Amino acid sequence: MKIRTTRCALSAAASGVAVIVCLMAAGQADAQGRRGQGGPPTVPTEEQWLASAEAQRRAAAAMTLAGSDLLPQAQRFCTATGPLRLALARQAAGLAPIENYTIEPTRVFDNMYFIGMSSQNTWAITTSDGIILLDTLNSTEEARDVIVPSLRKVGLDPAEIKYIIVGHGHPGQSDHTGGALYLQQTYGAKVVMHPLDTEQILPAQRPDRPLATPDLDAADGQKLTLGDTTVTLVHIPGHTPGSLGVIVPVTHRGTPHTVMTFAATQMPTRASLLQFEHVFNEFARPLKVEAAVNFHAGGLQDDFVHLETIRNNPTGPNPYLYGPERFDRWMSIVIECGRARLAAMGR
Ligand SMILES: [Zn+2]
Repeated sequence: MKIRTTRCALSAAASGVAVIVCLMAAGQADAQGRRGQGGPPTVPTEEQWLASAEAQRRAAAAMTLAGSDLLPQAQRFCTATGPLRLALARQAAGLAPIENYTIEPTRVFDNMYFIGMSSQNTWAITTSDGIILLDTLNSTEEARDVIVPSLRKVGLDPAEIKYIIVGHGHPGQSDHTGGALYLQQTYGAKVVMHPLDTEQILPAQRPDRPLATPDLDAADGQKLTLGDTTVTLVHIPGHTPGSLGVIVPVTHRGTPHTVMTFAATQMPTRASLLQFEHVFNEFARPLKVEAAVNFHAGGLQDDFVHLETIRNNPTGPNPYLYGPERFDRWMSIVIECGRARLAAMGR
């Protein structure tokens, strides 16, 4: 399979997607390597974490920022590993894996739905001209047997999927990318991905999990418009070199808010930390982001409880919505804990 090397301006112009900014952070290429996978470690050991005076000082500063209303979040972020997705957290705790199951699809905002499974999920954004799908689960089977029926269950037509933004991809693994080819081939959806991840995953794809070749390369700050909705793609490397966040304008019972998706919040290098700060300061804060969602339920917050709360009490407060002031402190906590881990690793 041929790897696309076209950069954002060219591919975006060819397909009518407006490119506002194409800033590529320097030094991203080193923002890879996961513990035990050959590259440099992305997180400190428990011993390094505890032995670093700066890490402990920064963790304490994060707790102060948290006050009482964000303390559980700060405690989750300010550890040697930071927040781990459920499967990895269970593994780290020596617990047996639990079976992956389909979660009841849930309308979290007027125009944004949780679709997927307990171990990984997608988000469907509805617009006046179709659906933007964020992430695609593991495989053709999961796209066909989970995404498609879940969309139908909440009254959405999978044939309306126009864009698929794949938040990131791991070489040899398909937990976010595996369903894209089926949706691309079946519904003609255009797949968008960051080229730094495309370049890694296509040569490493498994024969039984064929991957979609992206139609569009994403870049930091790029806007993608479908009908009445414009989302902003931001580059937040660390978990993978090409991890993307997507800033999404939503409404909640008619009132506008802004949501940001995160692949993960790892900042294993100074360059990835600086890029997170850039994204928070140049995009998330000006766009008044006030909610974070991700692609592994339970990874950033307790999605299982949040989703059930929303389903049980659709007119009650939305637990994802922090409000701008609280979300601003949440971002500061994420950065402070990222700095703490870098200090513990001596970077
Ligand atoms: Zn991942």
